[in-house]
Amino acid sequence: MDNLIDISSYTTFNLPSKVKSITHFTGEENLEEFFAKNDNVFVLGGGSNIILSLDLSDKAVLKIENKDIEIVEQDENNITLRIAAGEIWDNVVSFACENNYSGIEAMSAIPGIAGATPVQNVGAYGEEIKDVLVSLEAYDRIEKKYVTILAEECDFSYRMSRFKKDWKDRFVITYITIKLSKGAPKIPIYKVVQDYFKNNKIENPSIMDIRNAIINVRWSKLPKPSELPNCGSFFENPIVDKVFAAKLQQEFKDLPLFPTDHEDMFKVPAGWLIEHAGLKGVSFGPVGTYEKNALVLVNHGGATQENVIHARDEIIKIVYHKFGIMLESEPEIIK
Ligand code: NAP
Repeated sequence: MDNLIDISSYTTFNLPSKVKSITHFTGEENLEEFFAKNDNVFVLGGGSNIILSLDLSDKAVLKIENKDIEIVEQDENNITLRIAAGEIWDNVVSFACENNYSGIEAMSAIPGIAGATPVQNVGAYGEEIKDVLVSLEAYDRIEKKYVTILAEECDFSYRMSRFKKDWKDRFVITYITIKLSKGAPKIPIYKVVQDYFKNNKIENPSIMDIRNAIINVRWSKLPKPSELPNCGSFFENPIVDKVFAAKLQQEFKDLPLFPTDHEDMFKVPAGWLIEHAGLKGVSFGPVGTYEKNALVLVNHGGATQENVIHARDEIIKIVYHKFGIMLESEPEIIK
């Protein structure tokens, strides 16, 4: 018998994994003391974006679970909320929508916790956390003190921030502060959302209509982790330059291309590439792509990190062979 702790149920991919210890951060714990006692720590949020290895027996887990949504200030146009990092993100969106505060409704039904959203500048259907984030509070593991970081210091770009680059593993985010609008919500221009409004005869969608549309669209394409373990979109949507994009579109006439902030660069849907490489609903051992959405890898049962890495590498190889694009995986691989 070991004294290790099985943390598979804390993650949505449900891979077997054991760690040395787990500390639940509710806001009261002293992080300076915690890091002084534990040198090999990994910080766990909602567990929806990580691929765990079997043996993590040298690791101490800090699981972020503090909860609070506090109104910091408001006027007739805006409201500023300070949100504990451990709040389930979709509960935050639900709270905002119920109170008619707009700015995050298109980010409905994204799994994970509020504190994780700045790390990869989470976004969906035209909204990104960077557009509402004012600042965040964090524990700095290098300076050994609590700090406030302004949004403009985070160097946000498409699904990217300094927390994935030079600040990787440095800060434990404990609170985020966001500023929402009391004005009318922006209607997402994405075709799937527009189609939903058309099919449901909704002409002037309210904030709740937008939230419901997004929830419906998302859940029609994503398997429920409780039924089929997964961690949502597994690959990032690649960005290519306009010369390469034109060459691709000549060969693959239906290839969708979307503009980016940079006029010479285009976004290519990774799911389309995987599907058109013939890999939708295909399994590599116990791990495969989801039959309704090739962008999602699912655990058909009994998978380990090795199986996930094998499936990932096979998909990357086959897509590269067909399109000349090297996909990159989104979830963090914990070894
Ligand atoms: P999707 O709607 O099938 O779209 C695939 C790709 O096409 C995405 O790169 C999306 O850009 C782009 N796209 C589609 N319609 C567009 C339009 N009208 N204008 C500009 N770009 C357009 O994507 P999905 O995989 O099902 O995901 C749905 C939404 O959730 C997307 O917005 C996606 O980014 C978001 N999502 C976010 C995360 C995350 O934050 N980690 C993870 C998974 C999915 P955008 O990516 O710019 O939207």
